[in-house]
Amino acid sequence: MNSAEQIIEFVRRRMRMSHVYQPLLIRALVRSGGSATLRQLATALLLEDESQLLYYEDRIKKMPLPVLRGHGIVTSDRGLVSLNAGRLTYEQRAAIELACTQKLAEFLQRRGLATWDYRLIDTDPVRADVRYQVLAAAKGRCALCGVHSSERRIEVDHIIPRSRGGTNAISNLQALCDECNRGKSNTNQADFRLAPATPEPDTSP
Ligand SMILES: [Zn+2]
Repeated sequence: MNSAEQIIEFVRRRMRMSHVYQPLLIRALVRSGGSATLRQLATALLLEDESQLLYYEDRIKKMPLPVLRGHGIVTSDRGLVSLNAGRLTYEQRAAIELACTQKLAEFLQRRGLATWDYRLIDTDPVRADVRYQVLAAAKGRCALCGVHSSERRIEVDHIIPRSRGGTNAISNLQALCDECNRGKSNTNQADFRLAPATPEPDTSP
């Protein structure tokens, strides 16, 4: 059992950070009274994750906002989004919430986990030997920008994303650096192995 001082000492002096996750997790545990479920901790981290927030801001601007504005359901003015309705009673708010929840449930039942895109943890990960083959074929270089794994982390990417029915077959996999992988939109199914800057893919195992 640690005293508060020991935990502070760990945080201040012994914690070696490769990312912000350790202090975020300890802080989330403290705030939740000492214990939290994995789901609660994940939610706490998500709220701090600027990239996720920016992703959703961008997502909202591109998709639901213009559609809902087009239908006259919402208005937006310099970053402030408003429901285009007068003052709603408690009952009216509850009725709108219920309608939204029902639509969500119908959709989620139909589409399941595929509703959520590539950032979802893959429940059917690429086998280690297949992963190795892809990375070996790429000779440690990103298929898009050509950066070497000694300079940036190289990841195995699904050309057609899993959420769009892409498989773990080696023909659907390519090596991308983390930067190119992040830049690759989920809707863009580009096979960068065909790009001119790409080293010749060596498909032999
Ligand atoms: Zn790259």
